[in-house]
Amino acid sequence: MGDPSTARDVVVLGSSISALMTAAWLKHRQPELSVTVVGPRVGEEQRPVVGESLVEPAILFFLELGMGPYLEARHELKNGLTFYHKLAPDDPSDRRYSVHMPMDELYHRARQLHRPAFDIELARVARRLGVEFVEGRASEVEVGRGRAEHRVRGEDSAHGRGFEIEASFVVDATGRRRLLGRQVTRYLRPDQAQRSAFWFRLADFDPLLPGLELSWRRPARYDLWLSTHHFMGKGNWIWGIPLRGEGGERLLSMGITWRPDLFEGDIRSIDDFLAQAEGEHPAIAQMVRSGRVLDAQHYRNYLYKAEQVYSGDGWFLVGDAAGSVDPLYSTGLSMTVVQIEQIDEIIRRRRGPGISNAEIGDLQALWMMIAGLRQADIGDQYRTMNDPFHACLRRYWNLCGWFNGVLPLWFNGYFSDPAAARVLRRFFAAGVGSTQAAWALFEGVSKQLGTVDQSDFDRLLDFDWLINRRFDCRPEEVRKHLSRLLWKRARLRLNLISMAGPRHLSGQIAPLVREFILAALVRTLVFRHPALRGVGVQRGVPGRAGSARS
Ligand SMILES: Cc1cc2nc3c(=O)[nH]c(=O)nc-3n(C[C@H](O)[C@H](O)[C@H](O)COP(=O)(O)OP(=O)(O)OC[C@H]3O[C@@H](n4cnc5c(N)ncnc54)[C@H](O)[C@@H]3O)c2cc1C
Repeated sequence: MGDPSTARDVVVLGSSISALMTAAWLKHRQPELSVTVVGPRVGEEQRPVVGESLVEPAILFFLELGMGPYLEARHELKNGLTFYHKLAPDDPSDRRYSVHMPMDELYHRARQLHRPAFDIELARVARRLGVEFVEGRASEVEVGRGRAEHRVRGEDSAHGRGFEIEASFVVDATGRRRLLGRQVTRYLRPDQAQRSAFWFRLADFDPLLPGLELSWRRPARYDLWLSTHHFMGKGNWIWGIPLRGEGGERLLSMGITWRPDLFEGDIRSIDDFLAQAEGEHPAIAQMVRSGRVLDAQHYRNYLYKAEQVYSGDGWFLVGDAAGSVDPLYSTGLSMTVVQIEQIDEIIRRRRGPGISNAEIGDLQALWMMIAGLRQADIGDQYRTMNDPFHACLRRYWNLCGWFNGVLPLWFNGYFSDPAAARVLRRFFAAGVGSTQAAWALFEGVSKQLGTVDQSDFDRLLDFDWLINRRFDCRPEEVRKHLSRLLWKRARLRLNLISMAGPRHLSGQIAPLVREFILAALVRTLVFRHPALRGVGVQRGVPGRAGSARS
């Protein structure tokens, strides 16, 4: 960008993944906007990167930006999330695991991001769409109130001079630095249920899966290695994300996340990680020892979240500037996609028909509710992670909600419509009691069954039936998917009661009745609500994600 003192519609602070996603999307959806990204030169910064596993909203987002062929050529295929539960959790030498994953291929398969290569390509896409870049750092944001312009000042390191940009909208994507966020809102840090993580990238390693004794309902119809792997432990879980390196070589992003109040010990080095893995999953320790560690990072007690993420004054906080996440289920970047689409809608309305502060508040509250419920569920799951049956049930319940509820609604734009957001918040809030009753049922049944083996898992409802591969439906079909969600969850309760006996009915009758009645109402009455009629969004999703056609 030539002129360092100039006016723009949008300034995005930061030049990492959330910033680039926001800037590219705004130009893609509203090409008439002038958008400037302010941050270090993309790809040159030394900072912790993970190697993210994408799930549905994020992969469809990048496909709509036209990145399908690049992702296919450069980044590893991801079939789904695969979970390994030890059948004898207290015996380190026991290598028997019950494995749970979609057994048939997902319709929209995703990719595993090898960063920072991915960021460099995303910056290229953003540039091609017309995003301008200032290489440097912002040092100060003067927030304009009401419709007044914001002013961003800082140092343009490429030209060795200061800059000042005036903008109608400013997006803070400065990650944990939270340059604007710290100025405009408060951040809450949970005292309990904090999270810590240690992760590294591994090269030249021996394969992991042959070292395990795996059992499953039926084998996956794809290469199981090409998934995001989750090994459940006591107050912790370990992930493994296969990546493709610069020259196409096989790499692995591996890490452990734990709840410090439930996990004995601390992990700050590879040696600590190996000692931990020896005690729970010796095959993982063996694989890591066989390879070469490229880099390692850790975060301690890293959870926080902003009290406010959008304002009628025209500022927004996205990605880690809005809050940090526990990566179980890999929804971090997907929840950022939801935010970016909301921001796009707020800016569109601000420049067109108008949007009230209350409507902005409705969008914000819905995003916070979905993100908050997901994170609260994950946090609570640490209590049960090394109880194979219990942990498995908690996940079945969660992913049933994700595929049958969250995804069809997201796909059709309900999360970016303020009136729909207000109604949906009530819908999600009303489900909290039933979910807690289900958790109590899972706990009771798991206790009763005690030590389980694969045959116990085989008596559960089929996971492939509980999820929903074709959430990419038409708006008029959303009600059908939501109704199925309630029906499937009720069936899961009945499945457990029939497995473990009628004494588990107590506490379940009211939620069961509610689920059956709501399943019928959602199909018929609920979507006659004026706020839910007429919502729909055009998505440029080119065929099946992850396939040669994408
Ligand atoms: C352990 C772990 C595993 C994860 N796994 C997954 C996963 O599998 N899938 C998934 O979807 N998500 C995952 N996530 C979440 C995801 O990685 C994060 O949400 C994402 O990396 C956040 O990116 P960001 O751009 O918001 O922040 P960052 O990547 O931290 O970027 C912030 C940027 O702002 C810049 N900046 C800072 N200060 C200034 C300034 N003053 N001026 C200009 N620029 C500035 C920085 O230099 C940096 O470039 C994981 C997170 C963690 C912690």
